[in-house]
Amino acid sequence: MYTPYLNVNIDKIKSNAKNLKDKLDLYGINIAFVTKGFCANIDIIKAVKSVGINLFADSRIKNIKNVKSEIGDINYILIRIPKLSEIEDVVSLTDYSLQSEVEVIEAISNEAIRQDKIHKIILMIDVGDLREGILIEDLDEVANKIKSLKGVKLIGIGTNVGCYGSIKPSIENTQILVDAKKILNEKYGFNIDIISGGSTCTCDLVFNGKVDREINMLRIGEAILFGEDSTNGKYIEGLEQETFVLGAEVIELKKKPSVPIGERGKDAFGREKEYIDYGVRDRAILAIGKQDTEIDALCPLSHDIKILGCSSDHMIVDVSDYKNDIKVGDIIEFRCGYGAVLSCTTSKYVDINIKNLELEKC
Ligand SMILES: *Cc1c(COP(=O)(O)O)cnc(C)c1O
Repeated sequence: MYTPYLNVNIDKIKSNAKNLKDKLDLYGINIAFVTKGFCANIDIIKAVKSVGINLFADSRIKNIKNVKSEIGDINYILIRIPKLSEIEDVVSLTDYSLQSEVEVIEAISNEAIRQDKIHKIILMIDVGDLREGILIEDLDEVANKIKSLKGVKLIGIGTNVGCYGSIKPSIENTQILVDAKKILNEKYGFNIDIISGGSTCTCDLVFNGKVDREINMLRIGEAILFGEDSTNGKYIEGLEQETFVLGAEVIELKKKPSVPIGERGKDAFGREKEYIDYGVRDRAILAIGKQDTEIDALCPLSHDIKILGCSSDHMIVDVSDYKNDIKVGDIIEFRCGYGAVLSCTTSKYVDINIKNLELEKC
């Protein structure tokens, strides 16, 4: 068997998708399933589509292009503000896009006219996280500009929190969107019906009944993929967490001291590290490193194994407390978080195995 591998438990992901869809349906919220975190793997997308989720979202045109060529009938939102250099593809390949720059919206409009289309846009409003979005004080100016463009149609507004500034969604910051929708529809005559209120981290607020009923779309990746809401630091009740499991092979197994011996410089990545003396320990080296995955987003399935560190191609783990026998050639498995799956699925060194894939095609 080739290692390292990433086992994808498709049934668990499907069950998360179904569970979350049922819950959010009760609040009139439509899910746009975000596919950027796993390189838009087609099997995962088909599984999620099969539970009745009909809207998909990605930050990369390359992913959208690939999925659309594999699954013809699928709706996609581009969720990273488009590059001026990709406008042609944005108009021809995506069904909607998130926007925050007047210059880009203008270019989109011109391109849409050229392609004899009207491109639908969702205007992003920055409510405090300080990543993408217009500032609320610029709403009037932007609204006037969009009004004058013939190739785009403003169908929604949205926001993103939790990602850069780690700002949590709140009653106050989601209300900004509800107010903005009112202004845009009443003062400018738009016909906005979508409020894309956030991502996984907004679910908690929804389930606590604290989100205005006008919020009717969330862009969800993490909750379905990992059953987790890392912004709020918790697992989501009723969802599965062990969805992606990475396996790596033991290539060295020795007893060694826990503190390096000799004069100390910096490690392979320029960091100065502290080492605590736990005496002589059983250490395993695994054939996996930063070229394959993000080690910080891994958690050993056996809680008695501890990750000590890694470089580009080696990971060192402490196996002194490991209850099972271990030998060179064995495989140690880890639960993957978002960052780990993101890097595994884009590394050419990791094999992706889709597990329990149902035979019937979705
Ligand atoms: C990545 C991303 C999401 C998905 O966030 P999750 O935390 O995975 O649910 C939603 N919206 C935007 C704009 C994103 O970039």
